[in-house]
This record gives sequence, structure tokens and C-alpha cells, in this order.
Amino acid sequence: MPAETHLFLCLKDNYGVLMHDGESGATASIDAPEAAPIEAALKTTGWKLTDILVTHHHADHTGAIEALKSKYKCRVVAPEKEAAKIPAVDETVREGDTVALGNLAANVIETPGHTLGHIAYWFHGEKLAFVGDTLFSIGCGRVIEGDPEMMWSSLKKLRDLPNDTEFYCGHEYTAANIKFARTIEPDNPVLAAREVEARQEIERGLPTIPVTIGDEKLANPFLRADLPEVAAGVGMAGRPAAEVFAEIRARKNRF
Ligand SMILES: [Zn+2]
Repeated sequence: MPAETHLFLCLKDNYGVLMHDGESGATASIDAPEAAPIEAALKTTGWKLTDILVTHHHADHTGAIEALKSKYKCRVVAPEKEAAKIPAVDETVREGDTVALGNLAANVIETPGHTLGHIAYWFHGEKLAFVGDTLFSIGCGRVIEGDPEMMWSSLKKLRDLPNDTEFYCGHEYTAANIKFARTIEPDNPVLAAREVEARQEIERGLPTIPVTIGDEKLANPFLRADLPEVAAGVGMAGRPAAEVFAEIRARKNRF
């Protein structure tokens, strides 16, 4: 049986997602935003929670860890650099580590910027990545603890994943992100197409994720800060990509 995922909303606009290994029965919750919807998802799927894979310490990603752990006795895996801020951690991981989920394996990629210890989990065999609040569909997380240069290099690491990698992010922000992205690249036809697609999905009550890295590279301005047309679009032709990225992020903060 292949790996399966199950996606659902938590809190106001957080995504909860379960990753399941059909062979071993192992099931991970990626982050733990809210206990009730996660438990409901476990009931719907019939899967038993064995692991929680934490991307970063924010409360809307960790708030349900203790409740879930006491009920399911699951293992809690968290970034080494933020373990002190995350409850009930069993195992800490860092760049280059591998996390087993039953017979599946995720590579840990450190993606600091939103928080200093933020990590992503890349299940290369399944072509799936869980990127938390670093990369969003047509957006990226706020640079809260790091600086723009740090965030830009983290985003480039995710951009370097194979084009057919599907990524799951921590929030449903796509509509607002597209509205902003259109101000940076009003003439990008791929972005225009994504706008139509996202509107249809939202109207039908469907999630706008996952998205492939390959598609995202063509439309997400935060992954495109090193392209001449994007630099020119913000009046910064010829400037270093990290500076262009910082300007785009600053504009989004004010948008
Ligand atoms: Zn966060």
C-alpha cells in the first residue's frame, strides 16, 4: 500500500495533515494545531497516530501536542534548535537527519527565517514535503525571528527540491497571497492561471494545496526574487536577490 495523506483545516486557517504508511500502519500528524480536528481526521481515516512531526515552535503548530501524546502515546519529533520551546519532545532532529515513519523516511531540511529553528520534512520517496510556515502557496511566512537573507536562502533550499515534489504548508493563505503577488508580477500568465484555479477551488470548498515545487517556481514571487523581471517589477533591477526578496516581503507586510 502506498503512502497516503489526509488534509483538513484547524483553528482559523491552519492546515492539519496526516501522513500514513499503509504497510506499517504508522501515521504522523505534521504539527499539532488543534486536537479535535486531528482526532476527527484519525476517526475518519481509521488511522492510529504514532508520531507528531513538528516544524516549529509557534503555538498554532504545537498547541495540541500534549493532549494528543497523552491519548495516543505517540512519538514527538521536533527541531533541535527549538526543542526547549516545544512540549513533550521525544526526539530532536537537525539538517541532514532522517526521520522514519514506519517504512517511510523523511529528510530534515533546516529552513530558518520565520523562526530560527524551523525545519521542513521531505519524504523524497513519496515526493512530498511538509514545509510549515516557511513556504506558502504563492507566498512565504513572515520573517519573525531571522532576517530576510536567511529566509531567502531557506526558500532557495525548498526551491531546489525536485519539480514534482508536492508541498503542504501550514496555512490556507492562497487567495490573499495571489492578490499580493499580482501587484509584483501583473503580467505573469502562470500566476493569472493560478488565480483562476484557486478561486474555483475556494468556491467549491476545496483546499488550494498541495502544489508542486515546479508549478510554484513559475508563480510565487518569493521564489523568484533572483529573476530580472521580478527585480525590475519592484524597481530594483540589478540588485542582489536577497535585497529584492526583502523588499517583496516588506511590501507584503504592508499589503
Ligand atoms: Zn509560525
